[in-house]
Amino acid sequence: MTNAIRLFKVRGIEIKMHFTFPLILIWAGLSFGMFNNGGLEGAVYGVLVTSLVFLIVLLHELGHSIAAQYYMVKVRQIVLLPIGGVAQLEEIPEDPKKELVIAAAGPLVNFALAILLLLVGPLLGQVFSARGLLSLATSLGELSFSSIFLYVFTTNLFIGLFNLIPAYPMDGGRILRALLATKLTYTRATSIAVMIGQILSWGFGLWGFLNGNFFLIILAFFIYTGAGQEGKMVQTKHILGDLRVEQAYSRGVRSINLNEPLETALHATLNSFQSSFPICEDGNLAGMLPYSTLVRALEKKDLSTPIRDVMQTGIKPASPREKLIDIQKRMSEEGVDALPVVDESQGFLGMITSQDLNEAYRLSLALDRAEPLKGIRQAV
Ligand code: ZN
Repeated sequence: MTNAIRLFKVRGIEIKMHFTFPLILIWAGLSFGMFNNGGLEGAVYGVLVTSLVFLIVLLHELGHSIAAQYYMVKVRQIVLLPIGGVAQLEEIPEDPKKELVIAAAGPLVNFALAILLLLVGPLLGQVFSARGLLSLATSLGELSFSSIFLYVFTTNLFIGLFNLIPAYPMDGGRILRALLATKLTYTRATSIAVMIGQILSWGFGLWGFLNGNFFLIILAFFIYTGAGQEGKMVQTKHILGDLRVEQAYSRGVRSINLNEPLETALHATLNSFQSSFPICEDGNLAGMLPYSTLVRALEKKDLSTPIRDVMQTGIKPASPREKLIDIQKRMSEEGVDALPVVDESQGFLGMITSQDLNEAYRLSLALDRAEPLKGIRQAV
């Protein structure tokens, strides 16, 4: 994620915060400073408790991350956003038990912290009673140990419970999907969880709108789009199944020699279906000239510039045995729409493009709806 500032590393996981983060602290200081005429004391309180809330959110995300690492799932990073945190996992395990444990680990951290505070509270002179908990509203903004202790306790309870709302892709929604997946297929379980998540997001949005709660409206938007995107991803993965590059890549691709001028690539683009070109030297792949790179080069360079000066190098080619779903993931991560296909023994074979992936997806879907893979396996 861009716009994020690196903070530190925990267990090999990069912890980042969104650049708007300092703004949230300033906002907290200002609003608590003005709340109940809190003045400087209120402002310090605001900055302090807001920092503590994000520390709690970080611990929650670390809960998910450590559970994921336990199952050998790589955690890319944790990003703290103004509306909460995100632990970005390399993949979400389709094993319901693993997903359940990873999803539940976050809220469990919060409940464990709340219980810990409940236990150490009396040692620090903090006794919890129903009246004590109710006094949070009156002690809000008061720069005292009791007030902050109470705030941290209730925040933990709130974050733990709130995340258990079954609005996929929130934790509760993931738990719901995992539970459904023990009885139904993974895709069916996902589509039900996505539907419930999107219905609940409308509820959040409406509630936020009626109460003027901006946070809920933004959250509703994130849940709605997040659920849709993840649902689509699961569906694509299911449809592409274990189709491989060799079943979908384009043969007979035109490659260009690295010493040819840009003009050659320009004409080749205009006169063919192809818009990205593998660049070769003596039949071996030397680089790629994607369409976007060609356009940029044409803006700045002369038509006689040799392609080797502008081509992209160091591209990891696709192997014929790689899964299409992995290639799709790589292309979207690397922001490219074509990858050269190279076989260890046969050398350069052709190219796999986002269009090839689209075709494979649509044909696979159309050939056999009940068993989408069977048809295409026979067709290629
Ligand atoms: Zn969580």
